[in-house]
Amino acid sequence: MFSCGTCGVQHDTDDVSFSADVPLQWNQLEPEDKAKSLLAGEQCVIEAGEEKSYFIRACLDIPIQGGEHTFTWGVWCSLSEENYAEVSESWYDVDRVKLGPYFGWLCTQLPEYADTGFLKALLHQRAPGLRPLVELEPTDHPLAVDQRDGIPMDRMAEIATQLWHGTAAMPE
Ligand SMILES: [Zn+2]
Repeated sequence: MFSCGTCGVQHDTDDVSFSADVPLQWNQLEPEDKAKSLLAGEQCVIEAGEEKSYFIRACLDIPIQGGEHTFTWGVWCSLSEENYAEVSESWYDVDRVKLGPYFGWLCTQLPEYADTGFLKALLHQRAPGLRPLVELEPTDHPLAVDQRDGIPMDRMAEIATQLWHGTAAMPE
């Protein structure tokens, strides 16, 4: 729980969520390429020219400092063709947790962080029904630092306030 800087009431970070609808690349597609491409609930295959690119939805968890809470960003990551095929074939297989981890690029721009597109990551499979977990490459990028060290509650409160109330500027 945090006291909201915008409306003054208590919000719970567990009630705030973020989930990207499409991978970053989707919005850059020409209409004719969009028509050839596949956008499903959990998977996406972009076909542009002769190139095919493969994407999957995943969860990027950030631990919140000072408690057991975690904030989950709903993101898209790219996968190689080979790994995408393996993920697709093992979709309902309880043993899929033994597969991977898979390399992927983060293909979501998160609000409140600069340049989160194309960060390197490993995707760890979970049981069927759960999206894979994203482990960012341990760089100095603020998102990678927050994933590694946890995010301070006051910073999380700022982000949650933005998500709750939209992208309007915070009052000074
Ligand atoms: Zn509020």
